[in-house]
Amino acid sequence: MLGVPAKTARRIALLILMAASAVVSLSCGKDDTVSLRKFPYPYKAALAICSDIDETETIEKYLDIQRFLNTSSETTLGPGLGLDIGSSFWFYNQYRQIQMDQSAGDSVPDVFFSGIPDLGISLFDGTSGTLSDYASVILNLINAGYADCLHSFGHFSEAGFNRDLALQAIDLLGRESLTVDVFVNHGGQENRNNVGEAPSALGDNPESGIYHTDISIPMGIKFLWRGHVTHCIGQDGNFSILNLAKRAYEYVQDLRYAEQSYPHDNRLVHICELDDGQKVFEFVRYNNPWGKYSIAREKFFTHQLGANQVDNLIESNGYMIFYTHLGTSQETPYLSPSTIDALRHMKKKFDQGDLLVTTTSKLLNYYVHHKHLFWRTENRSDSILIIIDSIANDVEGNFVPDLSDLEGIAFYIPENRLAAIMVNGKPVPSVLNGKDETGREMISILWQRLVFPDFAHR
Ligand SMILES: [Zn+2]
Repeated sequence: MLGVPAKTARRIALLILMAASAVVSLSCGKDDTVSLRKFPYPYKAALAICSDIDETETIEKYLDIQRFLNTSSETTLGPGLGLDIGSSFWFYNQYRQIQMDQSAGDSVPDVFFSGIPDLGISLFDGTSGTLSDYASVILNLINAGYADCLHSFGHFSEAGFNRDLALQAIDLLGRESLTVDVFVNHGGQENRNNVGEAPSALGDNPESGIYHTDISIPMGIKFLWRGHVTHCIGQDGNFSILNLAKRAYEYVQDLRYAEQSYPHDNRLVHICELDDGQKVFEFVRYNNPWGKYSIAREKFFTHQLGANQVDNLIESNGYMIFYTHLGTSQETPYLSPSTIDALRHMKKKFDQGDLLVTTTSKLLNYYVHHKHLFWRTENRSDSILIIIDSIANDVEGNFVPDLSDLEGIAFYIPENRLAAIMVNGKPVPSVLNGKDETGREMISILWQRLVFPDFAHR
């Protein structure tokens, strides 16, 4: 800028910058491209509460909690939340079997179980081949999508599990035409049917007598929790200095933990190769916001995931799967007032359209299908076709999705243009949504809510 005083040159440069930014903002306001929205409309973040079944000793406790979470009826814990919050289940409980044998006067093995003595409910009576008298309730909840996580095959001492038990369990699901796609490791080193590279997790080791992933993965398992917990609020969300510091802390902390290695990139899901060479999606669970690991029990719920943490999650535009044990209270009411307050805040944010609250399975399926979606557009004179070709990833392979694989998928579209979503050469049912916080319109495939079974007879 020869011959122009420095002050004038700076002013001209500033004017050019302002003009350029005006052009950019103008083009943002009238965006004529099609793009994939991160979350189902209208939500800004997504949360699943992933509760392990430990210490849930009676079906009444289990149902009291689920009715409060899942229905809008008057329940023993107050007016129900009507949220799609899932739960988990066991097929077996060896500790319960030992207690039953003891009270029948039979001799019992001297075996070790870590943690608190646990008489938690299971589909089969103890480790027998007889269904428990409440098994139909759990099977109904699996069918309806609420009992969505298999918390390993059960609660076992070191030599308690064998492959025949896995075969019997998977046979039951097959006979009932049921499937489950989330496997959450349970307990300490004695629970050998766990899956992963820890030496005690033998479920995926073909050399062991308790190998089961050759049958449990074909049955439906595709998501695994190996044990990875985080303090970061919002996975795959906006950048945050605090989360970066927590990741560094967790990285250093895990250096001392040599059994398994975990990624520290604050992604919700990673591909994980098992001992037998099969691949699953591994996910991380959020534990609490502090710099130390703490026990994820019901009475700590509000300290782990109170109103502040929920609001931070929404601000982060991230995903989160929350690690807890909702059935650990030994007294009624089974959820404490502080837990109920925290849950009601979540419900408010769901109702306001800020936070999608759903089950672990639904959230994970949405996440991986959204991430691995292959689509393109075709411009017609009067409309835009959004053509979904496939979903392809290392776990599920390459397939043409059906509607259930695409629930909640939403595309931003240019203003005042007709649009349709096409799969397999045909338009699929979709809705035109209003504008969201970006000011853009969109077309989306409906997110389906679960329907709670009718247990009126109980
Ligand atoms: Zn557990």
